[in-house]
Amino acid sequence: MGLTNSSTGMGAVDSALVIRREAPTDRVIALAGNPNVGKSTLFNALTGMNQHTGNWPGKTVTNAQGCCQRGEKGYVLVDLPGTYSLMAHSAEEEVARNFICFGDPDAAAVVCDATCLERNLNLVLQTLELSPRVVVCVNLMDEAKRKGIHVDLKLLSERLGVPVVGTVARKKKSLDTLLDALDRVAEGEAPTPLTVRYPQRIEKAIAALTPLFPGRWAEKLNPRWLALKLLEGDEAILREAFAYLGGEEERGALEEAVEAEREELAQWGFGEERFRDLLVSAIVSTAERLCRGVVTQAGSGYSPTDRRLDRLLTSKRTGYPIMLALVAMVFWLTIVGANYPSQLLSNILFWVQDRLTELFALLHAPDWLHGALVLGVYRVLAWVVSVMLPPMAIFFPLFTLLEDAGYLPRIAYNLDKPFKACRACGKQALTMCMGFGCNAAGIVGCRIIDSPRERLLAILTNSFVPCNGRFPTLIAILTMFFVGSAGGWKASALSALLLTGIILLGVGLTLAFTRLLSATALKGEPSSFTLELPPYRKPQVGKVIVRSIFDRTLFVLGRAAAVAAPAGLLIWIMANVTVGEATLLSHCAAFLDPFARWMGLDGVILMAFILGFPANEIVVPIILMAYLSQGSLLELASLTEMKTLFIENGWTWVTAVNVMLFSLMHWPCSTTLITIHKETGSWKWTALAAALPTAAGVAVCIAFTALVRMAGG
Ligand code: GDP
Repeated sequence: MGLTNSSTGMGAVDSALVIRREAPTDRVIALAGNPNVGKSTLFNALTGMNQHTGNWPGKTVTNAQGCCQRGEKGYVLVDLPGTYSLMAHSAEEEVARNFICFGDPDAAAVVCDATCLERNLNLVLQTLELSPRVVVCVNLMDEAKRKGIHVDLKLLSERLGVPVVGTVARKKKSLDTLLDALDRVAEGEAPTPLTVRYPQRIEKAIAALTPLFPGRWAEKLNPRWLALKLLEGDEAILREAFAYLGGEEERGALEEAVEAEREELAQWGFGEERFRDLLVSAIVSTAERLCRGVVTQAGSGYSPTDRRLDRLLTSKRTGYPIMLALVAMVFWLTIVGANYPSQLLSNILFWVQDRLTELFALLHAPDWLHGALVLGVYRVLAWVVSVMLPPMAIFFPLFTLLEDAGYLPRIAYNLDKPFKACRACGKQALTMCMGFGCNAAGIVGCRIIDSPRERLLAILTNSFVPCNGRFPTLIAILTMFFVGSAGGWKASALSALLLTGIILLGVGLTLAFTRLLSATALKGEPSSFTLELPPYRKPQVGKVIVRSIFDRTLFVLGRAAAVAAPAGLLIWIMANVTVGEATLLSHCAAFLDPFARWMGLDGVILMAFILGFPANEIVVPIILMAYLSQGSLLELASLTEMKTLFIENGWTWVTAVNVMLFSLMHWPCSTTLITIHKETGSWKWTALAAALPTAAGVAVCIAFTALVRMAGG
């Protein structure tokens, strides 16, 4: 199609209005749309970037920018957060609206879902009030066709007065027409968009205000829309308009006129609330009228297969068992599949270690250098790679497949009731699922929860579910101590079940602490919301694999390696620098040891958790390093040898259980804590988010150890 992708490597930008053009002539295109209409897919197809797409609402919370080149022409695409309206009632709506108003895009594409066009047209109509340079992109045409829905694009375009194009975002070919239409609009083909008509009194007030706006505003802002916003009582928009566009000298007269018109409207019974209702109902009925004759449907429109699947996956009797079975199966495949590549990788990497040692000997390098670089940095890296890479490379694609097929919103639906019972928002189930990937991502995801109280509940309890960084630790310890590395399907099934149990424990803890917080520090009633169940979609296997390997696996591995290498060095130094009789490491471990023993751990383990603060991934490598440096120089080619090393250092099954429990419940990693502070703006809540799981972890470990001791274990 002549599109050449050039990823700029730019991620989400905070200052939402800053445009980064590659060339001054690049066109700026804003992509707006309701959540889950395929906006990110479209953005990725055009720019070649890897915005995370998923089949659930509320993922994109900031603007992301990317570039694409078509022949001579360059474009900067700005992916706005998915919103249902531009009324600026939420952060997402404000970001999207401000970009269209003040970001100066050359054109905007409003992406719609062809299978529910009428609802999507509300956003289209609101965007048209902001700017005439709009192209309506009716996406998911393939899905509409499958459901027997026909959209008359030509008629819709005539009625709306702007270009309308149909696309299938997953097929790049269909996107050329979209860029053509955007080009035409950006080049100044003056569209005459449909104007939504409001009741007569409101129209009169609009007419009275529009001549009063500073002349220079007319180019940027539609006076009609601005008048509506002011009559509605939106003072923020006036502040922003003056700040971005100037014209302060005319402010007094304008504000007076607005006040007078508002008073008059109020006298006519058009108070603030009724005014808003009237605006919304005018837009909704216009959308309804527009769709008459444009959308025709053969059959009911609901896919009977979707219905049957939903009945199976979300009903009381089968919903939970299937959910558990699916999760267990994902773990089982991960554990079984990871064994062999893990072994192979470890053989290769430790073979390389031997060659490195030989090289150092050949170069007559001093012992300490060999120790620090090969036995310190390299060995920890090798361990992280061989133990973490295979399970991640299997787990993430499987998880992403479930996500892509549309199963995660069903999990949220199933868990809605328990969260409501804990006086929290059902959407917390979704943010919890995001936490399984990365707690920091889960915490940013909490923005989809509108009530501040419920958002805080979700943020404070997010780290009770284990993230990517903790899964490999849990899997390794489970396999070593409870299943045996002898293999066999029974053993791997058992470890999958145990891991599912740990996940359930994490979910249970999330619920328990949510309930506790909502009975104490964060009292209140749960709010209601409607969770939309998106249609099931055939996952794109190839893309899922590529995306999860690059976005997740390599990202997590890179982060682990980046932290593990210096940590390896630090530990090696601590293990080799002696103060008095003992090494620095022994001193630290000895200091922590008495407390750690109470918890059924030892000083080394506790220290590893503390040193693992930058990234959970490195806790086990640190333990390993510490043990190795203190004693025999084992080559850890397999989990069996690792288990032997742990047992030599006093581990029992009780230690293993405690390590897993503490891994599930301790302070969140540094990235997560920074994110919590950013999202809550408060050190108090950040401290509580760290204190809660830590206190729980310490208490549970102490209790468990005491119980076992009492029972004579
Ligand atoms: P966003 O929330 O609007 O950014 O939506 P996404 O881009 O994340 O897309 C949601 C889901 O719809 C993903 O599973 C996409 O693969 C899928 N999708 C997007 N566009 C199309 C399309 O045109 N046809 C089909 N069948 N699926 C699509």
